[in-house]
Order: sequence, then structure tokens, then C-alpha cells
Amino acid sequence: MSSHEHPLGISFEFFPPNTDAGRDKLIHVRDELAARKPRFFSVTYGAGGSTQARTREVVRAVGESGITTAPHLSCIGSEKAQLRDLLAQYREEGVDSLVALRGDMPSGMGSIGELRYANELVEFIRTETGDHFDIAVAAYPESHPQAPNLDKDVENFARKMKAGANMAITQYFFTADAYFNFVDKARALGVEQPIIPGIMPITNYTKLARFSDACGAEIPRWIRKQLESYGDDSEAIAAFGTDVVSRLCQRLLDGGAPGLHFYTLNQAAPVLKVVDNLTD
Ligand code: FAD
Repeated sequence: MSSHEHPLGISFEFFPPNTDAGRDKLIHVRDELAARKPRFFSVTYGAGGSTQARTREVVRAVGESGITTAPHLSCIGSEKAQLRDLLAQYREEGVDSLVALRGDMPSGMGSIGELRYANELVEFIRTETGDHFDIAVAAYPESHPQAPNLDKDVENFARKMKAGANMAITQYFFTADAYFNFVDKARALGVEQPIIPGIMPITNYTKLARFSDACGAEIPRWIRKQLESYGDDSEAIAAFGTDVVSRLCQRLLDGGAPGLHFYTLNQAAPVLKVVDNLTD
């Protein structure tokens, strides 16, 4: 770790904004978060190329901070030639880290593409570009929604790590033991690379509940009940959310998690409140 890096090994994820105002705001958020010396930033990508151009643009803008900035890249719905071009463009632009994903098929889109799973994408990137890129992949402590069970999903996860990924970032979760259990299972299958917990701040109950249903992340009943009781009181939700998420992060770090990756949703304050509560 460089002496300039935050001691807890934090990283921050953004999505490409749709509007000029959103882009301007993101630059401020980037600067606030860059001041905490993260290991890296990452920028999400819409499967099927829907945000491909915007992801590249935002990677450039975020990368001007001087912090390593990793584009997410998904393979579903893409042909190898398109992926090859995109990898070449990223190399030319000085990008040396990627988050490699299968992605989800947007509704109404036709062909699945030439690569079916993330392990095939990781293999493809290694074949095409050798060791140029540091590659992160996704992990699901509560199991990917399409997997028949957790053990099968961990086997598939181990396959993509062995295809040449350098590390993994998890889907968010609110139960620390789900993470430790997943890490134990992955280690038992010979996975040695770091598995970084993905952390979602709690700021808006309705959105969080909708999103969690879609991606298969469980909000424990006691958290759900407490958040429901606050109704529209956004201050109470934020205070409770900061407390719950800070305690989760501290438990993860105390239990050996090798860093924390924050889903910022392009907002600095909720994440910084958590980061400032944590100790080495
Ligand atoms: P895979 O690892 O390919 O797994 C998908 C499913 O297939 C799993 O059920 C797995 O068990 C199974 N599987 C895997 N390999 C095999 C195999 N060889 N044979 C049979 N079954 C297999 N989505 C976006 O669209 N854009 C983003 O920027 C984005 N960023 C993300 C970042 C993180 C950290 C995470 C956790 C998720 C992100 N996602 C993103 C969501 C992700 O694209 C979806 O969860 C998608 O459904 C799965 O992608 P994956 O790379 O995990 O797929």
C-alpha cells in the first residue's frame, strides 16, 4: 500500500450521470472523495452498450483526479470484436484497471453475444491483453439471484478468479456473516485473491428496498422495520443508516476484510459519514 493511501483501503464507485448538472456535481463528489486517498474509483457500465460512451467519458473525467479509475465492462450482448476495440481504446487512454462482468441482458435485446459468463470475459481479456489490466470481478455473499444455490455460485466464482482476476468486489449485504461465510467457502476452493466487501449506504428506504429485491441483497427484518417506522423522515433514516452501516463496516474490517468498496450513488456525504466513523 502506498503511504498516500487511506489506511483502510477504501474505494468508491460512481455511475455515469445523464445530465450536465449530474456531471458537474460528480466532479465535486470526486474531489471530496479523492481527498480521502482511495485505492481507486470505478464507473459502472450499462450492459449492451447503453452507457458505453458515457462510461468512457466519466472514466476520463474522474481519472483527472489522479486516482486510478477502473471502468466496469460487461460482455453480455457484445461481440468479441467490440470488446477488443473497447479494450484497445482503454489502453490508449491509459486505463489499467477494469471491473469485468457478465452483466444483465436489457429487455428487448436480441443476441446474448459471444461470451456467456464473466469467467469467459476474464479469459478473453487475459488472452487479448496479457497482464496489462488489473481485473476485479463480482462476488455475491448471499448468492447471485440466478444461481441454484450458494455452493454452485461459489464454484462459478472460483472459476472466474482462476481465469485471471486480481480481486473481487462483492454485491452489498447487511449481514457480516454472509461475507465471512462466502470468503471461507471461496478459500476452501483455492481462491487466494482479496475479496473486498461492497458497501451500500442507507439513505432512502423505498429505493433501497426496490434495488435489493432486484439484485438479491437481503435487508434484515429489524433494519426494514426500523426504516419503515421513520416514514419520510430522511434525517432519521440517514442517522440510523450511518449507524448500521458503520457497525457493519467495522465488523468486516475487524474480521479481516481487506478493504471496503463503497457504492456512492454519486453522493459523497453518506459515505464519508461512515468512513469517518471507522478505525484502523
Ligand atoms: P457471472 O459471474 O457470469 O455469473 C452470472 C450467473 O451465472 C451466476 O448465477 C453464476 O453462478 C452463473 N455462472 C457463472 N459462470 C458460469 C459458468 N461458467 N457456467 C454456468 N453458470 C455460470 N451490472 C451492470 O450492468 N453494469 C455494471 O457496471 C455492474 N457493476 C457491478 C459491480 C459489482 C461489484 C457487482 C457485484 C455487480 C455489478 N453489476 C453490474 C451486476 C452484474 O452485472 C449482474 O449481477 C449480473 O447478473 C452478473 O454478472 P457477473 O459478472 O457476476 O456474472
